[in-house]
Amino acid sequence: MSTSALETVPVGGPTLPQERRLVTAIPGPASQALLERKAAAVSAGVGHTVPIEAVAAGGGVVVDADGNSLIDLGSGIAVTTVGNAHPAVVAAVQAQVAQFTHTCFMISPYESYVGVAEALNRLTPGSHAKKSALFNSGAEAVENAVKIARKHTGRSAVVAFDHAYHGRTNLTMALTAKSMPYKSGFGPFAGEVYRAPVSYPFRDGLSGPEAAARAISQIEKQVGADNLAAVIIEPILGEGGFIVPAEGFLAELVDWCRANGVVFIADEVQTGFARTGAMFASELFGIVPDLITTAKGIAGGLPLAAVTGRAEIMDASHLGGLGGTYGGNPIACAAALATIESFEQEDMARRADHIGGVLRGRLEAIQARDPRLGDIRGRGAMVAAEFVDPETGAPDAALATTVAKACIAEGVIVLTCGTYGNVMRFLPPLSIGDDLLHEAMDILDQELTAAEAGTAPTLAGDDAPRPDAD
Ligand SMILES: *Cc1c(COP(=O)(O)O)cnc(C)c1O
Repeated sequence: MSTSALETVPVGGPTLPQERRLVTAIPGPASQALLERKAAAVSAGVGHTVPIEAVAAGGGVVVDADGNSLIDLGSGIAVTTVGNAHPAVVAAVQAQVAQFTHTCFMISPYESYVGVAEALNRLTPGSHAKKSALFNSGAEAVENAVKIARKHTGRSAVVAFDHAYHGRTNLTMALTAKSMPYKSGFGPFAGEVYRAPVSYPFRDGLSGPEAAARAISQIEKQVGADNLAAVIIEPILGEGGFIVPAEGFLAELVDWCRANGVVFIADEVQTGFARTGAMFASELFGIVPDLITTAKGIAGGLPLAAVTGRAEIMDASHLGGLGGTYGGNPIACAAALATIESFEQEDMARRADHIGGVLRGRLEAIQARDPRLGDIRGRGAMVAAEFVDPETGAPDAALATTVAKACIAEGVIVLTCGTYGNVMRFLPPLSIGDDLLHEAMDILDQELTAAEAGTAPTLAGDDAPRPDAD
């Protein structure tokens, strides 16, 4: 960023004016200049969804270098759940960064890492003895959960599900279902990964127990419980389309795993930390996973991830088998402790439920007169609309893309997802005000009408296909 731009940068956090404000087309000239530098300097493989240069964020808005203020319904993919530049997180980070920035926990341990582990052991479902280990990213947490499960069981196979998303590293690409854009051309992938059918009530029409029986039968026939170290699943599937499994599906899978000595891993990287109206989505389904992976919302925007679970499983590794140079970095841990305290003190789970109520109410009202919204689903502040052809029920990805781009052009940050690319997902920070939520839904309503009339605005200079977010 240039010096002149620096002088005009507004301070982020909740004091930022909470308004949608468009002073240029999106992207404006300053943003366009950065995107040109990006195209020249940054690998073409790294996409972006919202063509702006972000300079500040907080409450429920993101401000760009041209002075536009966009309503944030994405939270940087479910990360700034507590709010962007939350004052408690800022203070904790500032204090820690002045104290020390790194020792490597494997060299010289420090208190905040242990404090985060204690908090995770206390907050995750189940009253059994638990332990945690900290890492840098969701994918790294998933990799380590699989390592731990294999070491504990002495078995090697892992089952993941249709529509799953678990990351972009080699093992997590293998676990992830969707080829484009996550896997195509990047193989060969890690071995001993098998895929089972998930419960997708809108599309399979099966009850939870029926869908569980289908998955378990396939696992028994194609893998065999004796070979299986772990089953890994997102309690609500994220990138794959915010799919909420039918009641009973997860509980029956957990029972089967327990009866067969298989480690049940809940990947709560996207669903964790008050997002779904509970601290962890597993609670909504009454399940107690053996291991839980967390990241995204854990530290108010700083990179941190964790594996938490049954002490006897977490202790399966030999000394020195787990770790990493930066895992549980002290600045990220300080941010996580402040974030977790804010979740608890500010009763963020209730706020997530309230936000979900507002979004679902508005979306269901639109759905009542617009059959292109085939399904409205989600829990808490993790809400999605699946767009379909009203005649056939076939996924309508073009509509989702058109409406998402039009919303962004009108100053509302929305993300899409889904195996078929036809799902619009809403993940606002829990610090957003109701007025902004309603305004964003007004824009969505307007752009759905515009899309039907073929008059939806597009993003200037945007002719590349819209890259999926995670
Ligand atoms: C985002 C995500 C990951 C990967 O997390 P990174 O921090 O991007 O590595 C893994 N699992 C789920 C469910 C996710 O949503």
